[in-house]
Amino acid sequence: MTIIRGATTVTKDCKEEIFSSVKALLDEIFECNHLAKGEISGFLFSLTSDIHSYHPAKAARECGYDFAPLFAATEPDIDGGLPLCIRLMLFAELQNERQIKHVYQKGAKTLRKDISEIFNIALDGPAGSGKSTIAKVLAKDYNILYLDTGAMYRACGLKALRSGVDPKNPETVAKMLETLDVKVEYKDGKQHTLLDGEDVSTAIRENAVSMAASNISAHRAVREKMVEMQRQIGESMSCVLDGRDIGSTVLPNAKFKFFITADSKVRAMRRFTELQQRGESVDFETLHAEIVARDKQDMEREFSPLVCAKDAIVVDTSNMRIDEVVMTIKKSIQSQI
Ligand code: C5P
Repeated sequence: MTIIRGATTVTKDCKEEIFSSVKALLDEIFECNHLAKGEISGFLFSLTSDIHSYHPAKAARECGYDFAPLFAATEPDIDGGLPLCIRLMLFAELQNERQIKHVYQKGAKTLRKDISEIFNIALDGPAGSGKSTIAKVLAKDYNILYLDTGAMYRACGLKALRSGVDPKNPETVAKMLETLDVKVEYKDGKQHTLLDGEDVSTAIRENAVSMAASNISAHRAVREKMVEMQRQIGESMSCVLDGRDIGSTVLPNAKFKFFITADSKVRAMRRFTELQQRGESVDFETLHAEIVARDKQDMEREFSPLVCAKDAIVVDTSNMRIDEVVMTIKKSIQSQI
């Protein structure tokens, strides 16, 4: 038994468009796979719950695909799933060996978790803008990987702090780089950052590491090493990456790019609450000053500065809840498909 898949979308729930879309989908599947009627055992359609006016199985029968059992069922809604979408599984007993082709029309392929091509979502922005929280939700909802690129620079900063290297000094940093071993691993879908083989995922979150990370990430040699790893991951699988230069430098061809920002006081307050919850005692004004200094340094550095890529969509999260930001991003992604 061979299963050939296909999907299409309609712009509105109306009989004419459902009929023509189903016909176009079946015609292309049959033509590009050189299918004969006798090879087909059955058609199974599934449709999103926003389609009511006409059933794809009926449409298929009426346009001549009536030579095998047809069945259609409505799918439960999937958060972030494509709207107005018709999917098909075609069961065939092929009479001769051939390479089969699945057919996706009218944007139906992108963001189907199990079948989509590799795509990247780049989330850039300053510290505390909410990038990492948003990235985690998007990664879970789209069932793709989350790569926290800041964690890699934090591991470099931690190494400098631990070995007494001034993270601003290019010579000592270059020497440190010769033996620096930073890796990311995933366990149960969660990123673990390894420094010289040690899991430092918790240690890199300490406030002292933030500025060291910002200082060390300004060096060209450090960036080249980290960016190469980030590209390898981004190009080999679908993922959400958050950082400062993802849309501009790491993956300039990322399919979806967002620049997440917020007022510096709001960002400092978020960080303050987060550190307090972890039991780190910090002064709000000091934290705010640090965030402003880190923004300035990240924006003014020579190599890959924090920048909003020309084609990125800006989302100001100052007065938004996380679920509102996620919804805004998902809607934007849907409209770009
Ligand atoms: O995002 P996070 O605060 O963990 O990043 C720590 C520091 O690492 C940032 O202040 C920034 O200087 C640096 N960074 C970077 N490029 C990235 C991600 C983080 O320069 N893609």
